[in-house]
Amino acid sequence: MKVGILSVGQVPREVLPELVQGLPKIFPDTACSVIKETLPIPADAFVKKRNQYNSSLILNQIKIFTARNTAFDRVLGVIDVDVFASGLNYVFGEAYMPGKAALISLCRLKPDFYGETAGFDVLVMRALKEAVHELGHTLGLRHCEKAFCVMHFSNSILDTDKKQSLFCGQDYLQALLAINTLR
Ligand SMILES: [Zn+2]
Ligand SMILES: [Zn+2]
Repeated sequence: MKVGILSVGQVPREVLPELVQGLPKIFPDTACSVIKETLPIPADAFVKKRNQYNSSLILNQIKIFTARNTAFDRVLGVIDVDVFASGLNYVFGEAYMPGKAALISLCRLKPDFYGETAGFDVLVMRALKEAVHELGHTLGLRHCEKAFCVMHFSNSILDTDKKQSLFCGQDYLQALLAINTLR
């Protein structure tokens, strides 16, 4: 699976190479690179009364990007603003299931957001887990009831911290089968 990582608006660039390194260790037969281009945050995604951005509208722009850039099997957008999805106060990310486009937001993954003193490594680990989770959805994987599995739904950052960056055996097999069909 060829994964392109796309900045959506201004993001801390140093996180992106960490994802490039981390994702191929988790997904079988996968190569990852940072896309040079930056996608602007669509202006209509901002909802003033919530002071948040609509993740579905941003995800749709990533989908349009994937249609123009066929070098990648999947494009993972990375954004650094607070995002929500219909019916949810906030989300860590969103993806088409199945599909080619996924999005994660670093905003609520940053230790600072919770007044924590933890550093860059914690942000990277959380970002990797959410990136694997959303890319898992693009391969057709659903939420997993096992709390340690990366496909477990994160209701809060506590769930993200509790789960691993890895799939359970069953989900790994499903991811492997889905990746094999890409060739
Ligand atoms: Zn999910
Ligand atoms: Zn699982």
